[in-house]
Amino acid sequence: MKRIAIIGGGISGLAAALALEKSRKDGAPLEYVLYESSPRLGGVLVTEHVDGCLIEAGPDSFLTEKPWATDLCREIGLENQLIGSNDPDRKTYILVKGKLVEIPDGLLFMVPTKILPTVFSPLFSTRTKLRMAQEWFHPPHRANGDESVASMVERHYGAEMVDRLADPLLSGVYGGEASQLSVRAVLPRFAEMEAKSGSLGRAMLAARRKMPPSANGPRPLFTSLKDGMQQMIDVLLSRLTSSALRTNAPVQSLQPQDGSWLVSAGYASDEFDAVIVATPAHIASRLVQMSSSPLAAELRGIDYTSSITINLAYDQRVRSALPPGFGFLVPRSEGRRMLAATFVHNKFPHRAPPDRALLRCFIGGARSEDVLQLPDEQILHIVQLELRQIIGLTADPLFTRLYRWKSAMAQYGVGHLERLQRIDNLLSQIPGLALAGNGYRGIGVPDCIRSGGVAVAKALAAIGLAEAASPASALSGSKLLP
Ligand SMILES: Cc1cc2nc3c(=O)[nH]c(=O)nc-3n(C[C@H](O)[C@H](O)[C@H](O)COP(=O)(O)OP(=O)(O)OC[C@H]3O[C@@H](n4cnc5c(N)ncnc54)[C@H](O)[C@@H]3O)c2cc1C
Repeated sequence: MKRIAIIGGGISGLAAALALEKSRKDGAPLEYVLYESSPRLGGVLVTEHVDGCLIEAGPDSFLTEKPWATDLCREIGLENQLIGSNDPDRKTYILVKGKLVEIPDGLLFMVPTKILPTVFSPLFSTRTKLRMAQEWFHPPHRANGDESVASMVERHYGAEMVDRLADPLLSGVYGGEASQLSVRAVLPRFAEMEAKSGSLGRAMLAARRKMPPSANGPRPLFTSLKDGMQQMIDVLLSRLTSSALRTNAPVQSLQPQDGSWLVSAGYASDEFDAVIVATPAHIASRLVQMSSSPLAAELRGIDYTSSITINLAYDQRVRSALPPGFGFLVPRSEGRRMLAATFVHNKFPHRAPPDRALLRCFIGGARSEDVLQLPDEQILHIVQLELRQIIGLTADPLFTRLYRWKSAMAQYGVGHLERLQRIDNLLSQIPGLALAGNGYRGIGVPDCIRSGGVAVAKALAAIGLAEAASPASALSGSKLLP
């Protein structure tokens, strides 16, 4: 009987456990143990029900175009629980000089694909609009190496596009800054389009035209679950062997022995043939120190930011007075603490009763990591003050819920892909050790699920129970908030 340990019980580790459970049921001679330091499984996927409202503490949905989360939901029997975002009402605003300005129709991430809405949009100055027109004629450009998203976007559309769109959109996804994040890791399609076509606008339009029309109409941008993201965790857990799941079990050390691994959690140590480390990379770094200090150093180099989500519920009067749409993003130049706010009652209408407004605000990220030091009351005060200044919201909330996520969002800095290559090279010398999680090849829930499956394939191959895993290649970010 072969034994595999999984360290970390977030969605990455649980997806790995599900894959191992499947192999076991298919007859593979193996058993697994999953170690989770906290009392609950699911990591940042947490849903609460308060006074008729469904509150998401961490992710509220995932990008529909990435199949791995939907596939997992289907596999565990949740297909009929999948719901889409309310896209007919999708509208996102950007705060510009204190006022909310709608992102014009046809803007894909920051690439304009429709002329008229962009020309008439007050979001951009005439100068930026001229840059957009010139961008159409950019010749193909193959960059020598990686660069930041800000530098690429500025080359195409100018600094205003970085400030008003690239930076706020990336803050919403990574809590990161466009000037720090790697274009190759975060927006690989942009790097490819630039190399092939030069103009991102032309390439995006051509790609759109090639897309076959969907038989059931356009798919929603975001997918979630009727009962919230934690529904995925709860049902997934019911498919696992409960005696294999150890909560309140922080792994302190991982010691390579002659062809095996000693995992120590609390006062107990246990021996395994392979180990999947599915924690954030900064924790993985500590755990692999005894196996390879160069690997530990590479993992330490992957930065993480922290964030806080603040949910506020209001009555019908507030709901009627709020702007339509999914919410707004706040550029750094506006000098606010808030990164973004989602109008949950519009994005997923059944998550709030018809006479309630539910807002979900984000604060923190690379922009203001220090905010995590503040007590809850002060953070709530800041959020309510900024809501008053931005959307004129003066009413007292019916209730609030605040969740802190310390060092939970990985930052794919410039050179991230090269770092991953070095990590892969180092791992190839350590058979039986695999990594999963949001620090590597995608921060969104679907990518994390995929990372768990890839890690299992690698671990099984190392112990002679499967063919060698094919390396995951596609890199991309998660959904865009709000
Ligand atoms: C506020 C927020 C909003 C987000 N919104 C979205 C969204 O809308 N859509 C989307 O697709 N993605 C979103 N993301 C990103 C996505 O949710 C995460 O990247 C993903 O869920 C991470 O899963 P994970 O299992 O890799 O890590 P985690 O969920 O962080 O789980 C890691 C687990 O490891 C455990 N652990 C740590 N150290 C040890 C140890 N020594 N021993 C044992 N266990 C240990 C931790 O307790 C934790 O449970 C969001 C993230 C955050 C924080």
